[in-house]
Amino acid sequence: MDLQLKGKRALVTGSTAGIGAEIARVLAREGVIVAVNGRNEKRGRQVVEQIREEGGQAILAMGNVAEAEGGEQAACVVEAELGQIDILVNNAAGFAASSSLSTALTVPPELWGRTTDLNVGAAVRMTQRFIGPMREQGWGRLIHIASHGATHPSGETADYAAAKAALLNFSLAVAKELAGTGITSNSVSPGMVLTRSLEAWFKAIGKREGWGDDLAKSEAWVLKNYATQLVSRIGRVSDIADLVAYVASPRSDFMNGTNLHIDGGASPGMN
Ligand code: NAD
Repeated sequence: MDLQLKGKRALVTGSTAGIGAEIARVLAREGVIVAVNGRNEKRGRQVVEQIREEGGQAILAMGNVAEAEGGEQAACVVEAELGQIDILVNNAAGFAASSSLSTALTVPPELWGRTTDLNVGAAVRMTQRFIGPMREQGWGRLIHIASHGATHPSGETADYAAAKAALLNFSLAVAKELAGTGITSNSVSPGMVLTRSLEAWFKAIGKREGWGDDLAKSEAWVLKNYATQLVSRIGRVSDIADLVAYVASPRSDFMNGTNLHIDGGASPGMN
């Protein structure tokens, strides 16, 4: 299927590693000119070089999008090098609490707010920053990377799950505000995907349960005790990136204001 993405321009926040880096690579393979964003320049350069080696086009737009200055820094580079963007993937996220196992009753209130800034504030900032030219051209794609935890909070990482729920709300509010403009706003909610952040959580579980850094044991524990999935494996970054490429495509025109679950069947239900 031709995704009709050739020549489109995209900014993927937090794309120097993990799911964001794979989204950048997959979009570039479809002919999108991609702005790679993050805070670690070395890793960002590696992603850009990898895309270029594969014959794709990419630029580096460094900056912490959870802060006004960093977001503006990245946006200015994107504008200077690409003019404007057609696709914005709000992927950058984070945990403010010192332990990724913090619960609703143990997260310090001030860190709860900070987690909201890291996850929702960044998406609000970058969406508002780039929406003008999308409106003018009458076409655009806003894609927000949420989480299975947004709609299925487990009790752990409570501040993060709540922030992702707020991100879903933001995504839908934007879709409604932009109704009929040719710009769509959708969320993608991954389940567990093997990246550094998941590895850090697996290590925290291993420490708590007594087997240290044995990730295979943590994965087995999580699949047995934590994640009720219909698919018996942890997700891969490509699972998410391939879906995002479709949502970014003109082919997804009839999809708007929705939240797509891609979680190994961790949210089976009629909704
Ligand atoms: P990751 O930590 O592997 O990579 C995130 C990247 O974003 C890193 O390069 C990091 O430096 C960058 N980044 C983080 N905050 C940033 C900021 N403020 N400004 C610029 N760059 C920033 O994370 P990941 O696991 O690939 O997660 C990507 C997205 O997917 C996040 O929104 C996360 O919440 C979501 N998600 C991940 C999983 C999972 O299991 N990995 C599950 C559900 C949702």
